[in-house]
Amino acid sequence: VVPSLRVNAAATERSYVMVKPDGVQRGLVGEIITRFERKGFQLVGLKMFQTPKSLAEEHYGELKEKPFYGKLVDYIVSGPVVCIALEGPGVVASARKLIGVTNPLNAEPGTIRGDFGIEVGRNVVHGSDSPENGLREIGLWFDQDEIVEWEQHMTPWLKE
Ligand code: UDP
Repeated sequence: VVPSLRVNAAATERSYVMVKPDGVQRGLVGEIITRFERKGFQLVGLKMFQTPKSLAEEHYGELKEKPFYGKLVDYIVSGPVVCIALEGPGVVASARKLIGVTNPLNAEPGTIRGDFGIEVGRNVVHGSDSPENGLREIGLWFDQDEIVEWEQHMTPWLKE
């Protein structure tokens, strides 16, 4: 057993965050990962990926009836994305706050969408909307062996 592997990986909350193709093309990958890292959430999965259309359709399956669904799927497959799995108590809601509301024009300055976007169809980043969807989406986008259970040594400096 590798010493840095966590012995008891409790079922803590996880969120699936993704830098969308516009964020990758605009060179915002590092900036976006930095915001979650410095907040204190733990990275447990990270990869670059060219999304197959079938996966984009499955990920956004709940939006199938929306008028923007076709364009949304085209957008997500239009270039590589960066897939991020984050872990920590309350990570789903907190990541949504850091990301900002769906339309970047309405998103608060200081949020990712508020700082880096102007249109809803190019809103730079995705974040799961519930803990259930966090687990579901991580399962969709990552193979099991791509999720790394590890002990983060700064934890005592983040949590009492
Ligand atoms: N979207 C869009 N037009 C809209 C609403 C949403 O293109 O009018 C896209 C946008 O990329 C958004 C995604 O569809 O991030 C999913 O929409 P949802 O309402 O789930 O927003 P999110 O949870 O991403 O903020």
